Amino acid sequence: MEASLGRCAPLRNVTRVVDGGAGGVCEGGGVERRPRLACFDLDNTLIDRDGAFLKWGRWWADSNGLGESAVEWLVAHDNGGFRPRAELFELARARFGLAASVDELVASYDEEHPLFAWVEQPVLDGLVDLRAAGWRIAVVTNGRTVQQNLKLEYTQIADAIDYACVSETVGVRKPDRRIFELAASQTGTTLDDGWMVGDHPSHDIAGGIAAGLHTIQIGSRHVPDAPVADHQFDSVVKAFPVILAG
Ligand SMILES: [Mg+2]
Repeated sequence: MEASLGRCAPLRNVTRVVDGGAGGVCEGGGVERRPRLACFDLDNTLIDRDGAFLKWGRWWADSNGLGESAVEWLVAHDNGGFRPRAELFELARARFGLAASVDELVASYDEEHPLFAWVEQPVLDGLVDLRAAGWRIAVVTNGRTVQQNLKLEYTQIADAIDYACVSETVGVRKPDRRIFELAASQTGTTLDDGWMVGDHPSHDIAGGIAAGLHTIQIGSRHVPDAPVADHQFDSVVKAFPVILAG
């Protein structure tokens, strides 16, 4: 059964658009263009999620009196963050003989891992430039509410965007078109002529295309039979000028 759509947590700097149409006429007679939507994935798009996981893994292994082999084990079993955390920590608990329960280990991870995340200044600058040019920015991320919101706050990406849609919070995941519709409605935009930027072909690019958005893939992850993005770059920094020129 499909979960009903919840509300994204509004960020403190959200502004609303009252124009319900495609645009309005300015006092000077020119046409005022409705703000457009730019959606960004978070993990391995705006931030180096795998790098943060490695840093957390080193800290976690050290904290538990484990060596470098435990870090290698964690990275090998992480599956880039796509292995369910309960499953990962069930395995870790058995592998390393941990006393804490799986629920306790997952809860700790959700609060610890974000503290190892960082964002490059050019990424924050790119988001700021986009907003200054009139774009509305939504982070659209599949993930857990506590962890994703902590990452957004800790990296200060939260201050540079208009809205964050976290899948666990809203009850729908990429590539479902509805998560993009929610991002549009909550930023006072539409999906018309908008963009989706992300690293995963099946989630970010397929979802963006399903929502009628232009798409940019970051990185070179390949998934058989997944659709191809309009553009592909090795860094999200290169996506900003393309969107600004679009
Ligand atoms: Mg990602």
